[in-house]
Amino acid sequence: MAQEVDPVKTARLFEFYVGNVWPLQRRFVAGRLARRCTACGASEKMLPLSAAGVCSECERVAREGRPAQRAHDPALEADLGRILAGAAGTGTQGHDALVMFSGGKDSCYLVRRMQNEHPGLRLLACTVDNGFMSPVAKRNIDEVLPRLDIDHVFIRPRRSFYVTLFRHAITHLNAQGCYGTVDFSDGEFMLDSARRLAAEKGIPLILCGYSRYQVEDGLGLNHFESPRERERQPRTETAGLKLADIFDAEGCRQWWPGQTRPDLDVPRLVFPLYAWDLEEEQIKRQVVEWGLIADRNQSPIVTNHRLIPLLGVVDVHRLGYSSFEPEFCRMIREGKAEREHWQHTFEFLEHTSRTGLFVKPLVLDLLAELGLTVDDVGVRFG
Ligand SMILES: [Zn+2]
Repeated sequence: MAQEVDPVKTARLFEFYVGNVWPLQRRFVAGRLARRCTACGASEKMLPLSAAGVCSECERVAREGRPAQRAHDPALEADLGRILAGAAGTGTQGHDALVMFSGGKDSCYLVRRMQNEHPGLRLLACTVDNGFMSPVAKRNIDEVLPRLDIDHVFIRPRRSFYVTLFRHAITHLNAQGCYGTVDFSDGEFMLDSARRLAAEKGIPLILCGYSRYQVEDGLGLNHFESPRERERQPRTETAGLKLADIFDAEGCRQWWPGQTRPDLDVPRLVFPLYAWDLEEEQIKRQVVEWGLIADRNQSPIVTNHRLIPLLGVVDVHRLGYSSFEPEFCRMIREGKAEREHWQHTFEFLEHTSRTGLFVKPLVLDLLAELGLTVDDVGVRFG
């Protein structure tokens, strides 16, 4: 279906408005907005606020103190180094490691560090295109691949597959909202696509650039490698939703079959950034220094996938806040993100989810792409 609204223009307009108009306008509509924690910006719909306007999580951190900074673990890094060194030259069809590649700073950092430290490891980068990739993200990939000089493939499942997945997920949200349902199932399918590609191409190792936080909180692991028994399991559900309730037999076969197919070797799945445990600032600085990414402050609102505005609006109607907010509030508490900017962003999202300002045409387009209406997802623009 033809796209009628330019998502990048809308995102830039949204950002401009948040930076320049909203700081004044918010004073006039404050009575209609949820109250927010004065320390981390958390909405009262997410966490209870004290009389002083501080959320329960900030109070807990103030009471118990921050968890001690984990000491860097050289043994863990050495273990990872041995796995990487051991994989070099072991791929049966010309590649030893499949690198999941989004074009963002983490995946660029991962590739270049592999090239520097393990030149014998034959890399294949792969990007899974879910059909809703931001045009800015695609352009970033086109720009950075020649600089990395790496073999690369796109995996592009048929459109109806993703439409079916996202349509089902957004109408069957779990307690974690769109982040924990739509975004999470998207991430699981990306990993499954990499598992299948690696298995089919005789690649023994998959490298994924998730941060320590994403591995621990997102995947529930506390090691840099996903356990073998987990990797051998065939997938039967995603984000708590049964695949058989979403897909026909052909659709179910697109997910990871685990060790149910005797002809497939199960690749190892490794998260090197978990072992390296770097600060986000270090990674940003390094990719700029390497000349890989020019604009170190590219906005996630512009590079994220096109469904993000729809997910935000649906969350506000379902939960009262965006399910992406808890992660930002955590980063604010840890001093890794700036409160005012993100509070204004999420406040304006709350406001525009009700009024439809800027986002309504885009949201209607995205719903139409998924074959849904506002009623299907419980959205009502005032
Ligand atoms: Zn707080």
